[in-house]
Amino acid sequence: MRLVLLGAPGSGKGTQATRLRDHYRVPHISTGDLLRAAVKVGTPLGLQAKAVMEAGALVSDDIVLAMLEERLSQGDTGGGYVLDGYPRNLAQANSLDALLARLGQSVERAIQLDVDTELLIARIAGRAKAEGRADDNPESVRKRLQVYEEQTAPVIEFYRHQQKLTAVDGVGSMEAVFERVVEALDSRYA
Ligand code: AMP
Repeated sequence: MRLVLLGAPGSGKGTQATRLRDHYRVPHISTGDLLRAAVKVGTPLGLQAKAVMEAGALVSDDIVLAMLEERLSQGDTGGGYVLDGYPRNLAQANSLDALLARLGQSVERAIQLDVDTELLIARIAGRAKAEGRADDNPESVRKRLQVYEEQTAPVIEFYRHQQKLTAVDGVGSMEAVFERVVEALDSRYA
């Protein structure tokens, strides 16, 4: 199961990715988590990424690709993975295909969690209170939604074109959305 999970900030990607990890017993690889860990430890890369992340912009493709490549080279990825937060633009989608081709792999499926913008904003506001993420302030949220529309939404078409995409209604309880995602994945595999 080599799965790409797509969706705007607040669409529930992270939550669903964790559940998919447990259900399919594959690692959850989140480039946002990898970057936040680098920021926390204070690596040179983390120091470089911190301000960009806080502003809600995208960290440079080269940095994120290098982190992802390093993560994919670890021993636990042989049976697949759930990618969350990558690819974020078309250049990254092409880089991922090239990287996986070198490893003799390919993306098998892409799931897009579909949630309308007003609900996204409400959900992020709730998360800001609960988790206190540095990039959950209103200005950064606006920027992240804009980046999603302009740069990440075309990635949906990229996977649609490859006939790997399934859009799933992301509105409802975590359980309800999870069931829809699993149904979408299992029905194509059956
Ligand atoms: P996320 O946790 O996926 O919402 O990511 C949080 C932030 O990390 C984003 O707003 C970006 O600044 C950065 N980030 C995460 N993944 C990527 C990526 N694939 N490319 C560039 N920046 C990323």
